[in-house]
Amino acid sequence: MHYLDHNASAPLLPEARVAWLDAVERLWANPDSPHTLGQRAAAALEGARRSVARLIGRAPRDVTFTSSATEANAMALQGLRSEARPEVWVSAVEHPSALAWGTRRLGVDGEGRLDLDALADALARDGARVAVLSVMAANNETGVLQPVTEVARLARAHGVVFHCDLSQAPGRVPLPSEPDLITLSSHKLGGPRGAAALVGRPAPRPLLLGGAQERGRRAGTPDVPAIVGFGAACAALEGLSPMDPGPRDRLADAVVALGGRVLGGGADRLPNTVCALFPHPGDLIVAALDQLGVAASTGSACASGAHKLSHVLAAMGVPGVPVRLSFGRVIAVEVVISALTEALARLEETCASSSR
Ligand code: PLP
Repeated sequence: MHYLDHNASAPLLPEARVAWLDAVERLWANPDSPHTLGQRAAAALEGARRSVARLIGRAPRDVTFTSSATEANAMALQGLRSEARPEVWVSAVEHPSALAWGTRRLGVDGEGRLDLDALADALARDGARVAVLSVMAANNETGVLQPVTEVARLARAHGVVFHCDLSQAPGRVPLPSEPDLITLSSHKLGGPRGAAALVGRPAPRPLLLGGAQERGRRAGTPDVPAIVGFGAACAALEGLSPMDPGPRDRLADAVVALGGRVLGGGADRLPNTVCALFPHPGDLIVAALDQLGVAASTGSACASGAHKLSHVLAAMGVPGVPVRLSFGRVIAVEVVISALTEALARLEETCASSSR
């Protein structure tokens, strides 16, 4: 099977797998326990904290481990509001876990890029009421990159905390240093599921109350093996060059040659993502690709057979269900192009025979 669904979950990096399995075997004690086994687990947790911090150039004390990027986003967006600043602004293309907390959605253009002029105008009018502004670095559906440096500048000028969901960026593009708060997700960057982090300052009020874990910022016994695997994945990515956009561009050219359209094709994009719209619905293409040994996705939620149109495409003014091809550093591009060609030919044939 050729796995082209890295944006949903990237495969475990070998370094993360070894560290994770070792931690499952050896580091199962509670890291808050005072005995040697507990303290061994606590030391491994702190080692992982240093690796996560190093990947994005922050201090280890500013890393709060959570169970998922969903939780990290919730923590950032629920915990900074005040009476004076009750608003949370989010771009209209954020992941649903950020979108859910937004009191205002900021529009994007047809390529999926944030409208910076509209943001500047809105901040000039209402910025004093905004606690936190959340704009992702890279979109999980289209791969479109947002102008993080400019957003940070605007937020800072209005005293607004800038939160950036970086889940899809590590190991693919250079990481921005400007955001106040950053979300990272282990399973998007080659670590195991069950770990993620909110990194930076100011520290939001905790979402989960109870124990004093994570310096009182996140109650609950941490999943030490998942976090150790997360740290190992971050360490493995450190110093890697950004991904080569060559395979993405070859795939994108093939999409156009096959009569499709690359979404966000005019914008800067992740080097691992091609989100394409064809005359055939994306879910049928995904099913045909699956039969041909290529695991892809539509990039949007599809529950119990009923299509939920993507809010990302809706914000871009694009109707339809796309097919998303998201991959790693090793990809057999020609095999994928052949499979896509064959999948589309089979759908053409099905359409032709049903209209006969
Ligand atoms: N943010 C982005 C950009 C994502 O792509 C995802 C998952 O698709 C999430 C957040 C949620 O991640 P998690 O599964 O770790 O909660």
